[in-house]
Amino acid sequence: MTTIGDNLQSQRARLWRACEQAGRAPDAVRLLAVSKTFGPDAVREALAAGQLAFGENYVQEGVDKIAAVSASGAVPGIEWHCIGPLQSNKTRPVAEHFDWVQSVDRLKIAQRLSEQRPSHLAPLQICLQVNVDGGANKSGVSPAELPALAAAVAALPRLKLRGLMAIPEPAPDFDSARAVFAQVRALFDALNAQGLGLDTLSMGMSDDLEAAVAAGSTMVRVGRGVFGARSYAPT
Ligand SMILES: *Cc1c(COP(=O)(O)O)cnc(C)c1O
Repeated sequence: MTTIGDNLQSQRARLWRACEQAGRAPDAVRLLAVSKTFGPDAVREALAAGQLAFGENYVQEGVDKIAAVSASGAVPGIEWHCIGPLQSNKTRPVAEHFDWVQSVDRLKIAQRLSEQRPSHLAPLQICLQVNVDGGANKSGVSPAELPALAAAVAALPRLKLRGLMAIPEPAPDFDSARAVFAQVRALFDALNAQGLGLDTLSMGMSDDLEAAVAAGSTMVRVGRGVFGARSYAPT
C-alpha cells in the first residue's frame, strides 16, 4: 500500500467516525480528493486505492492533469471537480474537460459554462459557492443574492445545479465551526423548500471535516489529509 493509499484509508475511517458521531449513515458523505499541486502520479496512486473524485483549483494545471491521467485510457467513473475561483476568460477549458464546477458565484460564469459545454458530454454538474462569513474580498455569492442566482442557474440548459459549496474562515473550535456550517445547511434547506431538488452540500476540509459532517455536509474536500503537505501554491 502506498502512502496515498494509506492516507485515503485513514481519511475514510475518519469520515465514517464523523458520520457515526453525527448519527448519519456511513456512506452519507463523499470524499473529494483535492489533488491541486500534485502530479498525475499522485492521482494514479489514489485511483489504485479506489478514489474516483478529484478536485482541482487551477484551470491549466487541472486540464493538463486530466489529459495526463486519461492518456493511458479512459478511467470509468473518474470525476474531476473544479473548486477554484473562475474568471470568465477561463470558462471554456473548464466546460470542455471537467465534470463538476463547485465555485460558481455569478450568473455570467454559469451562462458561459452552459454555452460552452459540449453537447456530447453530460450536463456540467454545478455547486454555487456561498460566502456566509462575509469577507468582502472572498469568493462566493452572498446569502441574500443566492436564491435568485440559484433559480437562474437551475434554468440553464447545459448545467445541472446540484448544490452549494462553502469555504468558511477557520473557526476557533468545533462548536463555532459547526455553527457556520449550519448557516450553509439552512440556505441549502431553504432552496430545497422552494423545490430545487439539491443533493450536494460541499463543505469541510482537512482541518474541519467533523464539524461540517455534524452540520449535514454531503461532500468533504480533503487535500493535505490525502496527498500530504503542499510545497507550492501556483496561482
Ligand atoms: C485546497 C482546497 C481544499 C483542500 O484543503 P486541505 O486543507 O488541503 O484539505 C478544499 N477546498 C478548496 C476549495 C480548496 O481550495
